[in-house]
Amino acid sequence: MSNFDELLENNKRFAATDFKDHLPEIPFLPNRQVYVLTCIDPRVDPAAVLGLRLGDAIVARTVGGRANPSFLDDLAWISYLHETLTPDADWFEIAVIHHTDCGSALMADDKLNHDFTQRGFEEEMLRATAVTDPAVTVSGRLTLVVPPSSRDR
Ligand SMILES: [Zn+2]
Repeated sequence: MSNFDELLENNKRFAATDFKDHLPEIPFLPNRQVYVLTCIDPRVDPAAVLGLRLGDAIVARTVGGRANPSFLDDLAWISYLHETLTPDADWFEIAVIHHTDCGSALMADDKLNHDFTQRGFEEEMLRATAVTDPAVTVSGRLTLVVPPSSRDR
């Protein structure tokens, strides 16, 4: 049995619940009118760390929680839909969340950075993506503190 088998079983159980009763009527107008951008790190799942429930927020996840071109394209699309199809609805707030102990900081490691550029990536882009201090990369209210992973203990 692979991990996917278990995930598919979990999805079957989920599909049998009353989840549909809690979803927003319009998918780009989430229940809490929040658009979250955060890191792909599995320790900063917005549902767990912010208490969001299904349908509460639009969630985008990138390495480091950086607003990369793909994120900006998606944000432009959602904003366009909102402006065009639901102009009288409240606008969403955007929460950009960076966190402590972010793996993206490894992009600033000289050796890893240099070796990865051999695969066609740009050194400065990698260094600019690294979140080495979330209090600096997003000054403000939503810097999450993540406990060190077991490998660091
Ligand atoms: Zn991270």
